[in-house]
Amino acid sequence: MMGLIRLIILGALIYFAIRWIINKLKPPQPSPQVGPEAQSDRLAQCAQCGVWIPQRRSIQRADQHYCTERCADLGPKHGGDG
Ligand SMILES: [Zn+2]
Repeated sequence: MMGLIRLIILGALIYFAIRWIINKLKPPQPSPQVGPEAQSDRLAQCAQCGVWIPQRRSIQRADQHYCTERCADLGPKHGGDG
């Protein structure tokens, strides 16, 4: 039964060799620096003047984002005559 033991040892060696190779091939992953504030740091475009503002600082009215109260009062920009 010596063959079986040698097979197990060989299998273990191959297993550790593959693990070592995978570790070497994998590039070091930089730890993502995502804070709790970064999640809500998405940009929204003002429906009136087209300026980009952080979504959490924008004024939302009727599913539209506005940069200021003034833009919100004017409403979404209409195409055509202006
Ligand atoms: Zn605006």
